[in-house]
Order: sequence, then structure tokens, then C-alpha cells
Amino acid sequence: MAKDCEKSIVERVPRRTLAVNKRKANFAPVDLGLREEDAVREAQRCLGLQSCESCDMCDLLCPDLAITRDEASGKVVIDLEYCKGCGICAYVCPKGAIQMVLEE
Ligand code: SF4
Ligand code: SF4
Repeated sequence: MAKDCEKSIVERVPRRTLAVNKRKANFAPVDLGLREEDAVREAQRCLGLQSCESCDMCDLLCPDLAITRDEASGKVVIDLEYCKGCGICAYVCPKGAIQMVLEE
């Protein structure tokens, strides 16, 4: 069975976009990109080894839809009622945040 990710969560930096009312009047790019400090934070989220990077690969590839994210804590939660223990989530996780363990 898959064991819940216990690593600390690093939230994604929200995307900055041009306000809708300003989009109507010009052809300026809608995606405003990242500020320097946000870009550094995103790079740390992606490259850090000690945290779940919130990439959602485990969630996307779980064939049994057994993985959700706790809204309050942001942690990845595995519903063992639905998990069939295939190990895909653990295999695709770039941080090794999900581990397969023997069921007791
Ligand atoms: S990918 Fe497989 S092991 Fe991971 S939670 Fe889904 S069913 Fe369980
Ligand atoms: S695949 Fe790993 S790093 Fe990505 S959201 Fe799932 S637990 Fe976090």
C-alpha cells in the first residue's frame, strides 16, 4: 500500500495575470510572469529535496483516483479504501515523498 506523503509542503506561487478590464483595451501580455523573489521561491520548490513540490503527478497518474490534497494543510492524502497498491504514485514522485510499505 502507498503511505501518505509526510514531507513538508511548499505551495506554488500564484500566477500573476493582467486584470480582465485592462485586457480589453490593449494587446499587452495576459501572463505577467514571476517577480524575482517568486521565481527564486519557485526554483527552490522545484529543486528542493526535502519537500513535496506540489506537482500533482501522483494525483494525476493514480488509476484509482485515490489521491487528494487536504485543503487545510495542503498535504497529499491517500485513501486506502481505493488504493490498490500499484506503486505508480511512489514511482513518479520526483521527491520520493510517497513510499510503499507492507500492509499490516
Ligand atoms: S497510484 Fe497506485 S499505489 Fe498510488 S495511491 Fe493510486 S492506486 Fe494506490
Ligand atoms: S508526486 Fe510527490 S512531489 Fe508531486 S505532489 Fe505528489 S507527493 Fe508531492
